[in-house]
Amino acid sequence: MSTSAFHPETLGVRAGSVHSEFGENSEAIFLTSSFVYDSAAQAAARFGGQEPGNVYSRFTNPTVTMFQDKLAALEQAEFCVATASGMSAILACVMGVCSAGDHVVVSRSVFGTTVQLFGNILKRWGLEVTFVSLTTEAEWAAAVQPNTKLFFVETPSNPLTEVCDITAMATLAHKTGALLAVDNCFCSPALQRPIELGADIVIHSATKYIDGQGRCLGGAVLGKKDIMEPVYGFLRTAGPTMSAFNAWVFLKGLETLSLRMGAHSSNALALAQWLEAQPTVARVYYPGLASHPQHDLALRQQKSGGGIVSFDVKGGKDAAWRLIDATRMLSITANLGDAKTTITHPATTTHSRVTPEARAASGIGDGLVRIAVGLEHIDDIKADLVSGLRA
Ligand SMILES: *Cc1c(COP(=O)(O)O)cnc(C)c1O
Repeated sequence: MSTSAFHPETLGVRAGSVHSEFGENSEAIFLTSSFVYDSAAQAAARFGGQEPGNVYSRFTNPTVTMFQDKLAALEQAEFCVATASGMSAILACVMGVCSAGDHVVVSRSVFGTTVQLFGNILKRWGLEVTFVSLTTEAEWAAAVQPNTKLFFVETPSNPLTEVCDITAMATLAHKTGALLAVDNCFCSPALQRPIELGADIVIHSATKYIDGQGRCLGGAVLGKKDIMEPVYGFLRTAGPTMSAFNAWVFLKGLETLSLRMGAHSSNALALAQWLEAQPTVARVYYPGLASHPQHDLALRQQKSGGGIVSFDVKGGKDAAWRLIDATRMLSITANLGDAKTTITHPATTTHSRVTPEARAASGIGDGLVRIAVGLEHIDDIKADLVSGLRA
């Protein structure tokens, strides 16, 4: 299917789907590790790459290929490689783009495990890493070295929903000969398409909104074919590839992504506006609010604010824990991107390994609560928070 003429909602439902000889309407799950050939000559041609076709599911698998093609259409990317998780997508990106001795500049406000991957593990293998503020462009410019290969950002950031100007960041990266990678997990292609804004690489944890119902782990790396070639080379050799079953779950998730992201966003905006009016709430962080410092930028590059709302409750950790413990319906978990609304206390969970000083410097206070707003009725979500906020 040629993708350019269709709207994103249609691409989510239709792009990438290929039907087998049986004529199934829902995509098939090809649970097979290897593929068979008609003859020894055909086997040789497949292995040699003279004849296209599947060989082994670490290399390609038809269900995984359908997922890759659908996500590539949605992100307007030339090529997509699927991975076993969001973290293996980030690892594959770095393994494909960088070598020992190269330098990467990384936003300090990225997913906690991403900080560990860059700051501890990849550093041990000879990668130079500088962490800078997501929103201070001068820090990025100052961090650049002659060996800088990659800029890595996540926007909006977790948990404070800071927004980075993707086009400005891409311009700066390209001026210095580096590539810009954007972790697009919080928005998904339904709300933000970084490649259209100038980014070279898009990263996904499919575990979150692409699944949308908290079932499977997966990830993806997308970009131009020549950039993705070594990323794919790493994956087919080292093996953190996506399973066919998970790819099928994500294919179904992409069919409803647009609808779900619209619903997550409108619930989140209503909740953020309501929280702002609560006397026991000191501050609300949500890009869709007029009070967000980068509201205009956010609405220029995102279709809407997304599903993540954070806020400071008055009274620090005790008040935050009381609020969380007073809920009856919300799921107390650090996961996000689920139909079920989740609530978490970043200072003692996702960011507990960060020192209190570094936490304070990045604005993550002891009274901060993060809600990944789900698809329940907004009045029921508010009702579950009322008693804790009044306490
Ligand atoms: C969850 C997450 C990841 C890691 O993804 P996994 O699928 O858990 O490996 C990376 N980036 C962001 C922004 C995430 O939220």
